[in-house]
Amino acid sequence: MSKLFGTFGVRGISNLELTPKLAFELSLALATYLRNKGTIVVGYDNRTSSEMLEQAVTAGLVGGGCNVIRVGLVPTSVLSFAIKNFQCDAGVMITASHNPPEYNGVKFWGSSGAGFQRAEERKIERIISKRAWRRAPWNRVGKARQMDALAPYMRAVLAAIPRVKLELKVVVDCANAAGSVATPSLLTRLGCKVVSLNCQLDGAFPGRLAEPSPENLKELAQTVVACGADLGIAHDGDADRTIIVDETGKVLTGDRVFALIALHHLRGRKRPKIVTTVATSSVLDDVTEKLGGDVARTRVGEPEIIEYFRRRGGDIGGEENGGIIFFDWLPCRDGILTAAKLVEMLSRSAMKISEFDATLPRYHQSKQRVRCPDELKPKVLKALERRFKRYKLDRTDGLRVVTDDGWLLLRPSGTEPIFRCFAEARDEKRAKELADLGMKELKASIRVAK
Ligand code: MG
Repeated sequence: MSKLFGTFGVRGISNLELTPKLAFELSLALATYLRNKGTIVVGYDNRTSSEMLEQAVTAGLVGGGCNVIRVGLVPTSVLSFAIKNFQCDAGVMITASHNPPEYNGVKFWGSSGAGFQRAEERKIERIISKRAWRRAPWNRVGKARQMDALAPYMRAVLAAIPRVKLELKVVVDCANAAGSVATPSLLTRLGCKVVSLNCQLDGAFPGRLAEPSPENLKELAQTVVACGADLGIAHDGDADRTIIVDETGKVLTGDRVFALIALHHLRGRKRPKIVTTVATSSVLDDVTEKLGGDVARTRVGEPEIIEYFRRRGGDIGGEENGGIIFFDWLPCRDGILTAAKLVEMLSRSAMKISEFDATLPRYHQSKQRVRCPDELKPKVLKALERRFKRYKLDRTDGLRVVTDDGWLLLRPSGTEPIFRCFAEARDEKRAKELADLGMKELKASIRVAK
């Protein structure tokens, strides 16, 4: 059997690729991996197929001899919190995060509250491909019970963040998805005046697509301006990411949300360490300098950041897509805590979001892509190294070409037959020049590799 797990668990079109049968086999394999014992938390987002898959997952785990705590419809960080809070051995989250509504996914979590690492996922794949799962005998099947994970999570966040004194008005856009059960009520309890947008649960995601990209946040931006709100908050489908809109209706990229949060969260800490990936803006280097800390850059993806933290430690982790990990809270991206932290930041200062943003240097980015068959990717990468050998190179993930006035990342996609070209510089013209140079060399390298 080929690789089942992608970048974020097993994903596919519900009931076609990701069937109840596959969900059942995956969870029976998880039970086998856990030696047919232990207690596992199972949660799901509000996709139309999530309850169906949750029943299959629960059956697989119970049939495999594990006990199950069903926490129902929760954002991903609440599942991670529940694993630790209930001291469980693992967790299963049913979600396809930012993917369109026809998709769903099954992702496994370890006892620390972090997603399974690649090596653990490979062991599950091996059990499935050999059909080497073990069922429990009739008198050893597990038990499933229902528990509330959301209330203890909310209490913990409220204990960590003081009630705001200023009357802040916040527009929250949850894409009709899982964040709807947490963020609007949390911010209200923190003392904000909340205007909710797309916060009625609807698995068809009729309000907007679940990816919080600027083109999907036009309605949020308009609403922030129309209401005279201080802040607009948007989550992806499972609310582990947060993108914001400032009071003028401008969408801030995930890099900048991460930078603002890092400044606020780490202020006063002695030599804090920020963990991010090679694809994140240089604005994180500026923030690190302001804080007198260190920045570590890993390969792209949340698991890489978590793995770095496990081995070498860190204070905060984050990505350019607006996923932020507070390591002293949970080893999992938490868009809800991010929203609460933003409100805390605003309430402690007379500054507006746009003014906070203006304290950071401005960068311009250019993102492009080109088709490249998977089998050519290693050869193309080698050729690119030769073509850019005059520059300072970083080979952490793909090829990062560092110039005096910017950088360029040429990186093969792990899931699609494409090569990405991502450039950043202080001015727009230079970012475009770098991206054009990257695309030119990329296309030439692909031609030669063929
Ligand atoms: Mg997500």
